[in-house]
Amino acid sequence: MTRAEVTELLFRMPWQELKDAARQARCENLGHHVFVRGLIEFSNVCRRNCLYCGLRRENHTVRRYCLKKKDILAAARTAAAAGADTIVLQSGEAGRNPEWLAEIVAAVKAATALPITLSVGEQPRSWYALWKEAGANRFLIRHETADARLYAALHPGYTLQQRRQAQESLADLGYELGTGFLVGVPGQKPESLADDILLTRDMKAAMCGVGPFIPQSATPLAHAPHGSIPLTLRVMAVLRLAAPWLNMPATTALASLDPTRGQQDGLEAGGNVLMPSFTPRLRQAAYRIYDGKARVDMDAVRCAIENARLTHTLPVPADMPPKEIQ
Ligand code: SAM
Ligand code: SF4
Repeated sequence: MTRAEVTELLFRMPWQELKDAARQARCENLGHHVFVRGLIEFSNVCRRNCLYCGLRRENHTVRRYCLKKKDILAAARTAAAAGADTIVLQSGEAGRNPEWLAEIVAAVKAATALPITLSVGEQPRSWYALWKEAGANRFLIRHETADARLYAALHPGYTLQQRRQAQESLADLGYELGTGFLVGVPGQKPESLADDILLTRDMKAAMCGVGPFIPQSATPLAHAPHGSIPLTLRVMAVLRLAAPWLNMPATTALASLDPTRGQQDGLEAGGNVLMPSFTPRLRQAAYRIYDGKARVDMDAVRCAIENARLTHTLPVPADMPPKEIQ
C-alpha cells in the first residue's frame, strides 16, 4: 500500500465498507480470538515531561508511588487467575535500579508461567538485555507520532530518532515489539496518520496501540479537544488492512471516551486485544495519564468480546451461571 492508497482508505472509503474489510482481514489472519493482557501499572514515577501526559515530571499534583514486589506479585496472580494470557508491567520512565525490575520479571514469570510484556520507556540497551535475560518477552514503546517535528514539540529534550533507536535495540535483542500512536494530539496533521500506519507496518511491529488523545487537567494541553473516536476507529481499520498480522488493542482511551461501546467498537474496527487493569484500586487514581480514565475490568472485557461476536477463553466467574454452549 502506498501513502496515497492509505490516505484514500483513511479519508474517503465509506465506513461500513472499511469496517467490514478490517473485520474480514482480522478473521482471515488471526481468527476470532481476543487476547487479554493483564495490565499492572506498577509505578507512576517519570523523568520525562511529555506535554500530553498526566504523569509528566512537572505535574506536582500527582502522588507518586512504586508498588512493592509482593503487591505486584499479588496483582499478577489475580490477573492470571482471571484468565489473562500475558502480564504487562507498565510504569513512567524512571531511572530506577534495573536489577530490581529484573527480579520482578523473574518472580512474576515464576508465579504465573505467562509471557511478560514490559512498558517502561527508553532505557539503556544493557537494561533491556538484562530484563530479556530475566524472562521478559515483549516490550511496548509507542512511537507516538511519525511526524518528527511534532514528536520533538511534544517530548521536550527527545527526538523521534532516539525513540526509533530504542525500538530497534529492543527488536535486535529479540523482544516482540509493540508500537503505537496518538490520534488527534494537538499539532497533528490528519494526513500524518498515514505515515504512522506505514511506519508501523515497515518496522514490523508485532503490536500497535492506536488511541485518541485525551486531555489531562494538570498538563499544558489541558484545554485541547480530545481526539475523535470515529477517526481513531478508521485508523485502526486501515492499519488492520496495511499490517494484517498486528495484535491491536481496543484501547482504554477508547473506553474512557465511550464507556458503553468504546471497546466493542475497537474490536469491530479490527482490534483483537483488550487490556484490563489489575493495578491495585488504591493506586489507580494516581495513574491518571488523562482525565476520566476508565477502569476496564474483566466484566467489561467479557461484555465487549461477546457483543463484538468474538471468542475468548476466560473463566466463568464463580457468581455467574455458565452460559449455555451453543
Ligand atoms: N512511560 C512509558 C512510555 O511512555 O512509553 C509507558 C507508560 S505511558 C503512560 C503509556 C502511553 O500512554 C503512552 O505511550 C501514551 O501514548 C499514552 N498516553 C499518555 N498520555 C495520554 C493522553 N493524554 N491521552 C492518550 N494517551 C496518552
Ligand atoms: Fe512519562 Fe510515559 Fe507519560 Fe511520557 S507518556 S510522561 S514517558 S509516563
